[in-house]
This record gives sequence, structure tokens and C-alpha cells, in this order.
Amino acid sequence: MNRHINQRMAGLAHSEIRAMTQACIEAKGLNLAQGVCDTPVPPTVLRAAAQAMEQGKNVYSRFDGLLELRQAIAKKLAQYNGIVADPETDVTVSAGATGAFHCACLALLDPGDEVVLFEPYYQYHISALLAVEAVPVAVKMQAPDWKFSGTDIERVITPRTRAIIVNSPGNPSGKVFSQQELESIAAIVQQHDLFVFTDEIYEYFLYDGRTHVSLATLPGMADRTITLGGYSKTFSITGWRIGYSVAAARWAQAIGAMNDLLYVCAPTPLQAGVAVGIQELPDSFYRDLSRDYQRKRDRFCQALAKAGLAPSIPQGAYYVLAEASRLPGTTGKARAMFLLETIGLAGVPGEAFFSGPEGKQFIRFSYAKIDSDIDDACRRLARLG
Ligand code: GLN
Repeated sequence: MNRHINQRMAGLAHSEIRAMTQACIEAKGLNLAQGVCDTPVPPTVLRAAAQAMEQGKNVYSRFDGLLELRQAIAKKLAQYNGIVADPETDVTVSAGATGAFHCACLALLDPGDEVVLFEPYYQYHISALLAVEAVPVAVKMQAPDWKFSGTDIERVITPRTRAIIVNSPGNPSGKVFSQQELESIAAIVQQHDLFVFTDEIYEYFLYDGRTHVSLATLPGMADRTITLGGYSKTFSITGWRIGYSVAAARWAQAIGAMNDLLYVCAPTPLQAGVAVGIQELPDSFYRDLSRDYQRKRDRFCQALAKAGLAPSIPQGAYYVLAEASRLPGTTGKARAMFLLETIGLAGVPGEAFFSGPEGKQFIRFSYAKIDSDIDDACRRLARLG
């Protein structure tokens, strides 16, 4: 037959995260599967976006974003991340960090390029690589604290390796890469002349006094690092799709061209809302965010432990991988469906984040929920028996 879906799609898994959200809607359950982040949006951000619409900022922005947003991001990068970025040439505002990553892959990877990433991984990273015909190569981190060594990375590097993906704080592991781990990655990247894509979307979700280190700030890394970030999680606006990439101008130019091609621009009035949020929210907003989420983490992880689903305690981000082998079934999917059917709680089967059999024993939960939903989730877990 002459008509068919292209070969790229054949290997692309549908998002298990979305599938569980759908199953949860059908079961009228509580969705801790997709990291929806249904906590309140800062009123300043909401008001500024509404005002931008009323004031007529409803047409395309420049392909790489509104000037005020690029400037606000550049200033925040300097202050929070220690990254020097020229808002005129280095920052590309995109349709979420996912859009930013896809543009970076399109701009910088050739078919057949091997890209190393850490397992458990975020399924969208794998799918974005497959969509551009790059080849994902996993380095397995060891549960429960998700350690790895430089040798583990060296072992998978080949002449075809073009990049390494780092995601810190990580989804789904909650791992915050240590300075030493980042340094070992930076050394390998420089030795083999690679790019790094570093997904830092959870940069403000840090627990137990941890701080965020951007890989781009390590010596020799600025020119080879594509930093991805966004405000979906920080401002609880996952549906707005406002993310960005930062890279040296020569890479950013190509990434921006892809952004123009795919999205033309990110939603203009929503960019304006985010710009005002970055400019006006005080440092205490970000401190409170970490503190509130740490509380949610503690409360939910305790309930998991009590229910016999041992959590791997997250150091950052807002997901937790729970050991679920005590639940009936032989796959993560069967176990996740059992939970949904018995106590109406939706999580994502571990298979979505692991290439090997380890996935079967885990379920990932998101605790980016309002406190009454966390309480509800804990009550449901207590009923598990
Ligand atoms: N990042 C979120 C998660 O991991 C949402 C993913 C999505 O639906 N694309 O759940």
C-alpha cells in the first residue's frame, strides 16, 4: 500500500502519562499520573496575561519571544542560574520546555546521532529523539538513590554520540544531580566534543536545603550546553505552554528557526503574563514553593510507605517512584490499573520510564496537587490494606 504512517512513528510509544490520565477520567479517580500541577496560579501572572489580552497583545510575537520576556528570562538566568545570556540572540521562547527541546533536537541532531540519557528517563525525551531519528542510549541509574558513575557513561560513548541529556531535578526520579556528578558529565562531554541538553524545568523544586546548579555554568560548558526551562510548573500554568531554551547565539539561531517553523511563536499574551511574573514575584515566592512542595512530598511519601509502596524519596521535582511489587499483577501497568480500580488513584506504570524489566515494579505519582487532594490520596492509600 502506498499510504502509510511513516517509519518514525512506528517506534514511537503513545504517552503512558496521557493514557493513565484518560483511564483516570473514565474511572472518576484522583489523577496523580500526569504532572498536571493544579495548584493555584500566582494572581499577578493571571492579571498580567488578562491585561495583555485586553490591551491587544493578541498577535504574533517575534519568533523567539516578546522582548520583555526574553529580557526577564536573561535577568533571571544571570541571578538564579549564573548563566550569561544575551536576550537579543541567545534566548528562544517556545511552546513549553517540550517545544523548546523538540526545536533543539531538530536544529542540532542528525538522523542516526546517538544521544545518551539517564534511566529512569522522561518518556518525552526519548520520543523527541525518535521523532528526529536520533538514537537514545540509556545509562542506568541505580535505585533507590539513582547513582551512576562516569565509567557508566564512558562505556556507551561511540563515535556516533552527539549529545547527553541531563534532567535535574529529574522526572521521574526526583534526583538532583550533585556538583560532582555534573562535573564528571562535563568532563566527558568536553573530552568527546558533545552537546548537552539540560532540562531544568523543575529548577525551583528543591528539598532538604538543596541548591540548583546549571550545567552551563561549569567551566568550558557554556558553548556546548542547551539549557531548557519554563514556567509551566513554577507558575502552575502547564496549559499555557511557555518554555524556553538558552544557547550560544550560533545554536540559538538554528533553534529559533525551528521554533518559527513549528510554532511561529509561543502564545503572546501568555508570554506577557509570565514576563510580569518573573519581574514582580519576590524571592520568597520561590522559597515558599520549595517549602510547600517539600511538605506535600513528606506527607505523600509517608502515606506510600505506610501502604507498603516504598517511595524512593525525591530530592527535587514533584514526582515519586514507588516500589509497587506487593500489588497484584506482573507489570507496572497491571499494578497501576489495580490501584485505579480498587482505590481510585492513578499513577503512571514504571514501564514508561525504564527500558528494562525494572519498570514493572514501579509506579510514578505526581504530588503537584492542592493539599486537599494530597489528603484524599493519603486516605485512599490507607484503604489499600
Ligand atoms: N511533565 C508532565 C509529566 O511528566 C506532563 C507530561 C505531559 O503530559 N506531556 O507528567
